[in-house]
Amino acid sequence: MAARQTPDTLDMAVRVASMDEVDRGLKPHQALAEAGRCIFCHDAPCVKGCPVGIDIPGFIRRMAQRNFVGAARLIRQANPLGAVCARVCPSEAQCEKGCTSAGLTEPVAIACLQRFAMDQEMARGIRQAAAAAPTGRRVAVIGAGPAGLACSLALALAGESVTMYDSAPEPGGVMRYGIPPYRLPREVLNREVDWILGAGVRFVGNTEVGRDIGMDELLSEYDAIFIGAGLGEPATPDVSGLDAPGVISAYSFLRAAGQTDPAPIAQPLGRVVVLGGGNVAIDAACTALRLGAEAVTVAYRRAREQMPAWAREVEFAQDEGVEFAFLLSPAEVLQADGKIMGVRMTRMKLAEDDASGRPRPVPSGEPDEAIGADTVLLAFGQGANESIFSALPSLARSEAGMIEVDPETGASSMAGVFAGGDAVNGGSTVVLAVSEGLRAAAGIRAYLDSSREGSECR
Ligand SMILES: Cc1cc2nc3c(=O)[nH]c(=O)nc-3n(C[C@H](O)[C@H](O)[C@H](O)COP(=O)(O)OP(=O)(O)OC[C@H]3O[C@@H](n4cnc5c(N)ncnc54)[C@H](O)[C@@H]3O)c2cc1C
Repeated sequence: MAARQTPDTLDMAVRVASMDEVDRGLKPHQALAEAGRCIFCHDAPCVKGCPVGIDIPGFIRRMAQRNFVGAARLIRQANPLGAVCARVCPSEAQCEKGCTSAGLTEPVAIACLQRFAMDQEMARGIRQAAAAAPTGRRVAVIGAGPAGLACSLALALAGESVTMYDSAPEPGGVMRYGIPPYRLPREVLNREVDWILGAGVRFVGNTEVGRDIGMDELLSEYDAIFIGAGLGEPATPDVSGLDAPGVISAYSFLRAAGQTDPAPIAQPLGRVVVLGGGNVAIDAACTALRLGAEAVTVAYRRAREQMPAWAREVEFAQDEGVEFAFLLSPAEVLQADGKIMGVRMTRMKLAEDDASGRPRPVPSGEPDEAIGADTVLLAFGQGANESIFSALPSLARSEAGMIEVDPETGASSMAGVFAGGDAVNGGSTVVLAVSEGLRAAAGIRAYLDSSREGSECR
């Protein structure tokens, strides 16, 4: 079988000094060669690995026939954020993991093919899908991240009147305010978001539900509600000195950095230490490099094998020059004259597995050590979105403290209130949020249909 095609990447010197997209995508001849590698298995294990069930053999077949826009339309039927997901999905753990040709050589580069098709379509303009006749029913969507966007589009196309509220000024959620532009260019996001809004979805920004508009108001004005409000505040570890200027949450840092190119980050970065081991830590580290940090170290309390960050993201950061320090847990942010000097770290060792199934890090008993730093970025995960539970105190929580929903319909414990995305699953991926938004749209339509039948019987 022919070798897997790989896209070009930006030259390293340019790459680490700009927010430009690193992955340049396949060239036309590469896309055709890669499409030719698919063996079109009859049971398509790749499709089973895709949370939204894209007809992968179908779109690859169209690509092999040079029908790139047709391929994109097939993808878009299953995933309204197909161009975004082609860039940010962990495809090696999803569709490409199931690729049968993985057993022969290397899996087909499905995400690269999807990106090629979507880019071809976007260059020509995404065709607006026709919406069904208006039903006269009104749905409020809280949160304009991937879950809210996918749910809104599906409802709008079905003729429901949809208003999407977000506390942020612009729609996109973490795709706009978290994932760095060098992995997800904002023009790609904007085109898909504009296409969704163009289907008739009304967007109301700068409006936090529970603060700027009451949940009671939404419950009385709308026939159903979808909550796709994502996660809450970043977790703060029990470490002394976190109030020092120059200690920043990685989320706030990425949010500021994603706005402009290069971003106006207030203080000089100098030596940056990122505390945490997830994808957010990696994104913050690579962003810090791009904003001119002298050196960047990611410090994690377990070993590399236990890092929650995806392996390909860790390799990406290492290639760019990010250093990693393992088995170190932060004890104190060291300061002198009101300035950060470094972080005192406790050396850890691994003990028996904890509830997460990973070895528990415990102090090794060796002396603490210091890592020099001028800026400290905190990336310790996020908890549930409490703004939603405060606004709707009777909403039932799952064991993990998130919104509990029916796994078939996305219905919450309250009649007419549905939910999906990170607010339900506790933090996962863009494509899973899309699939949960679509699931809830179907659940909402079934609920509205049954409510209407009920009222007609009375
Ligand atoms: C830095 C970072 C990098 C990531 N990288 C990737 C990646 O490469 N690939 C991937 O697949 N996933 C990635 N993820 C995860 C992915 O972004 C999320 O799983 C996904 O965005 C969740 O979608 P959502 O719609 O549930 O919520 P969100 O995207 O969080 O959107 C929720 C929206 O709700 C709004 N909101 C919250 N509360 C209220 C309220 N009370 N009233 C009104 N609006 C409200 C918020 O402003 C936000 O816009 C990353 C996450 C982070 C933080």
